Amino acid sequence: MRSHYCGQLNETLVDQTVTVCGWVHRRRDHGGVIFLDMRDRDGIAQFVVDPDTVDAFANADRARGEYVLRITGNVRLRPDGTQNPDMPTGMIEVLAKDVEVLNTAATPPFQLDDHGKVGEEVRLKHRYVDLRRPDMIQKLRLRSRISHNVRAFLEQEGFLDIETPVLTRATPEGARDYLVPSRTHPGEFFALPQSPQLFKQLLMVAGFDRYYQIAKCFRDEDLRADRQPEFTQIDIEASFIEEDDIMGVTETMIRQLFGEVLDVALPEFPRMTWHDAMQRFGSDKPDLRIPLELTDVDDLMKDVNFKVFSGPANADDGRVAALKVSGGASLSRKAIDEYTRFVGIYGAKGLAWIKVNERAKGIEGLQSPIVKFMDNIIEDLLDRVDAKDGDIIFFGADKANIVNEAIGALRVRLGADLELYTHDWAPLWVVDFPMFETDGSGRLSPLHHPFTAPACTPEELKADPANALSRAYDMVLNGTELGGGSIRIHDQAMQSTVLEILGIGAEEAQEKFGFLLDALQYGAPPHGGLAFGLDRLVMLMTGATTIREVIAFPKTQSAACLMTNAPSDVTAEQLKDLNIRLRQKAKVEETVE
Ligand code: ASP
Repeated sequence: MRSHYCGQLNETLVDQTVTVCGWVHRRRDHGGVIFLDMRDRDGIAQFVVDPDTVDAFANADRARGEYVLRITGNVRLRPDGTQNPDMPTGMIEVLAKDVEVLNTAATPPFQLDDHGKVGEEVRLKHRYVDLRRPDMIQKLRLRSRISHNVRAFLEQEGFLDIETPVLTRATPEGARDYLVPSRTHPGEFFALPQSPQLFKQLLMVAGFDRYYQIAKCFRDEDLRADRQPEFTQIDIEASFIEEDDIMGVTETMIRQLFGEVLDVALPEFPRMTWHDAMQRFGSDKPDLRIPLELTDVDDLMKDVNFKVFSGPANADDGRVAALKVSGGASLSRKAIDEYTRFVGIYGAKGLAWIKVNERAKGIEGLQSPIVKFMDNIIEDLLDRVDAKDGDIIFFGADKANIVNEAIGALRVRLGADLELYTHDWAPLWVVDFPMFETDGSGRLSPLHHPFTAPACTPEELKADPANALSRAYDMVLNGTELGGGSIRIHDQAMQSTVLEILGIGAEEAQEKFGFLLDALQYGAPPHGGLAFGLDRLVMLMTGATTIREVIAFPKTQSAACLMTNAPSDVTAEQLKDLNIRLRQKAKVEETVE
């Protein structure tokens, strides 16, 4: 139907006849001459329709915004003074000979170039209109390039693309499962995969050696943060490898991707232990673009006459950390109040601070509600953080996890608010994660998943599980976890030990992962892998501000699709087929009767 996309038209086509198909982006009537800006996925170009092409003019005259047209005409240079160098097609226009209306369009629910004024709900409800915006097309095109590039790289490295089931058993990745009732097995359910974890391990047992898949994963998580109930992973697994092999190949993949798609040469990927990351940045995914670090001051605060500090400084699970911000003494009271409210979100009960106005004057040169308690240690404290005139020092004092979360988040917020970034891209690997974390009741749960290999023997693990390290690794970029994985347990005895430590008895283990435990007996090779979050990767590479911008048909924060109205009711017939009676509905029906 067409010879070119609108966005392909340029000076090289002058005097040629072209045919395009697309949507009316804008229509202007200039005293007898009609200008149509036509849009398709490649861009926008200007068409001119003269009244002497009678039929074409009549059609252009009745065309409205978002009508679908097919136009044939001659490319010509725009007259001097009317060129638009900001537009890729801005040097030319097309004098239309033929205008055909392929379809009409109702008035769109919002103007494409005015989308900022409409709520996201309206845009999601009419996503097919929203997706016409060049900005959205741009992001999804880049997404397509990214997945193509990743596939090409992995194929070239000998990884095989193998699909794993979507209707399956639960995979423990720490979230709630989406369940699908089985009609043929009344009362039984499939779970949608939280990841292909167990299947990719089984593919290694089968001998495929190198696997990848761009896989949909499903996690019914609480609706905080910028998450989606279904999201996409670049899932990778390989056999006969160690940490350095898999980290090496995937680092090359990401480096090549950034080079080819964004023309960005990523710097070195330093390796940092989980422990150092938590101590220095309060986070297991530190944003290394921000030159601020947490400094431990517990030892200095043990004897101060200020319970808020001395309490955590003396407690086993407490931490007192300082965060110095060079030049931060100019922060207003209002800004500090806002940061105090902000750290409260993470459980901090307050935010102590010291402004260093004139260090040479000793305590007189400081401004702070707490400095009066710190007479004896103030000089040591200022030395410890290397305080200079004009600095502000913030403090977190609480349970270590609260301090890390709150001051870690404050660090990131200050980095953004005060524009402290020292460079554009800061990748790193975080390694040496603990094997387990404890909840309040002292119960252990896996930091990654229960198939992650520990860096010690089963005996050592049993003797001191709380302090055992795992063979896990995360790739972090600009404070976002791009991907994570581990060397896996390939030995049945070790796998049983880990499950036992997690309080999963032999019977339960057999019932939940019997197939994996069985497979480990049949010649499982040493193996490991990782998975990258494709959506987050695309988000970083496109500069999008929410994950919804890089997914064609995303769900809302409450895990619903506004366009299709999913999830939705089903008929009584369908429920009967599935052998399901709804408690909630039954109640509603009863009250209606
Ligand atoms: N399955 C893990 C996840 O989804 C990634 C991995 O360990 O390969 O987080």
